[in-house]
Amino acid sequence: MSRATTPSFVCELPLITTPADERKLLVRLDVARMVYNACLGEALRRLTRVRSSTEYKTAVGLPRRSLARRTAFRNADQRSGLSEYSLHEYAKQFSHAWLGQHLDVNTIQKLATRSFLAVRRYACSKAGKPRFKGKGWFDSVEGKSNTQGIIWRNGMLKWKGLKIRAAIPVRDPVVSHALSCRIKFVRIVRRKLNGRDRFFVQLVCEGRPYQKPKHILGQGVVGLDVGPSMVAIVSDQAASLRRFCDELKPKQKSVRRLERKLDRQRRANIPGNYDDNGTRKPGTTDRHLSNRYLHTRSELSELHRKEAAHRKTLHGAMINQILALGNVIKLERISYHWLQLRFGKSVRHRGPGLFISHLRRKAANAGATMEEFDPRLTRLSQVCLCGAIRSKPLELRWHSCECGVGPIQRDLFSAWLARFVVKNHLDVDQAKGAWSGVDARLRAASREIQLAMGLYCPPTLERGQSQSSAQSVWLSDEALESLFQERVGLAIGTSGA
Ligand SMILES: [Zn+2]
Repeated sequence: MSRATTPSFVCELPLITTPADERKLLVRLDVARMVYNACLGEALRRLTRVRSSTEYKTAVGLPRRSLARRTAFRNADQRSGLSEYSLHEYAKQFSHAWLGQHLDVNTIQKLATRSFLAVRRYACSKAGKPRFKGKGWFDSVEGKSNTQGIIWRNGMLKWKGLKIRAAIPVRDPVVSHALSCRIKFVRIVRRKLNGRDRFFVQLVCEGRPYQKPKHILGQGVVGLDVGPSMVAIVSDQAASLRRFCDELKPKQKSVRRLERKLDRQRRANIPGNYDDNGTRKPGTTDRHLSNRYLHTRSELSELHRKEAAHRKTLHGAMINQILALGNVIKLERISYHWLQLRFGKSVRHRGPGLFISHLRRKAANAGATMEEFDPRLTRLSQVCLCGAIRSKPLELRWHSCECGVGPIQRDLFSAWLARFVVKNHLDVDQAKGAWSGVDARLRAASREIQLAMGLYCPPTLERGQSQSSAQSVWLSDEALESLFQERVGLAIGTSGA
């Protein structure tokens, strides 16, 4: 939520809480929820006022992306009091009311800011309509600075009479680096682990996070082609096609079983909510749910949480390997929302969108640059080196052209082309210049990959005229790993596709 200009990173530590601390924190989170809801309601009311004002209506008619339009919108917002500071002004009343006994002024201001940002994202159609938070749904509060309100002093969280120690791992370079940096502000997060509330402190530190020595940053350009379930990675040294999160076992069966159990329990708890034919009566709510039901529900959320944590670890390992290949990463900017609509199940399981945002953050922290270009201008999956543009149906996984290029696995080819994109345009001359010798290597890599994945291989590849692996500098996954071990002196415990 911070909009500071200096880089920052987060260090999270578990809090060592007593039952009394936990009770107090839960009360404060609930009070914070009420303040947030009140501010959100006010901000939404002000938004309605803005949208019905004449200033707003004239602003809509002005030419897009013009300064006049932007200024007109800002003026309309100001007139109706839809700004961060006027919401702070509105939230002032809460620190004088009984809510002020639980929360300090800074935390209340930050809650007002949070609701304002949610409404602004909604107003600019960058997000859906923000929802009011129900009891038990509010999981975090944060301060404004490390000088008053929620603060961190001498390994301890302090907040309005509360003093809670955090578990600081000894001799952990990541944590000790974070603790040596200036702390911008402090956040408290509640998580439900195994059905129990656990509390964590997040220190938002200034600077860049600690880089483990085994995670080196390579030199050169890496082209990526990200799909719903696979990513093609091509650099000077390597070409590989990997499935996201291959080690992640789908838990669909257990999830489905728990969902069915929940449905049975819900029906048994409140039979009055259902008609004779088993359908839900409209307008009914789930009240007075049994403890067994709540237990099943926490079991299900624990399953989802574990899966998400494992997915994040696997993404992180793959990103470290990509960053070891080069420090300039080029890829198409794709709409992950569209991917979700089109390939819902696979995207939910493998999380390509999450992978990209994780990559963006890690690349910035390691000092690498990431260039995302517009796929509508480059059309990498359709173009060929000879200039021909032909769209391929989704099931056609090969690029081969009359000009003699290919057959090459299409994702590998687009990832290779991505390396030559400059400012949203494919530099064909540069790509042509680099092409000699690459054809055979890419074909060899395509063949290796397809065979390893057990996929269809065109017969021209099966004959294997391109198996010039002696001169091939494209590395297989095993070779890639030995390269890492050589350069790093450490074994990397991941196996790719
Ligand atoms: Zn061609």
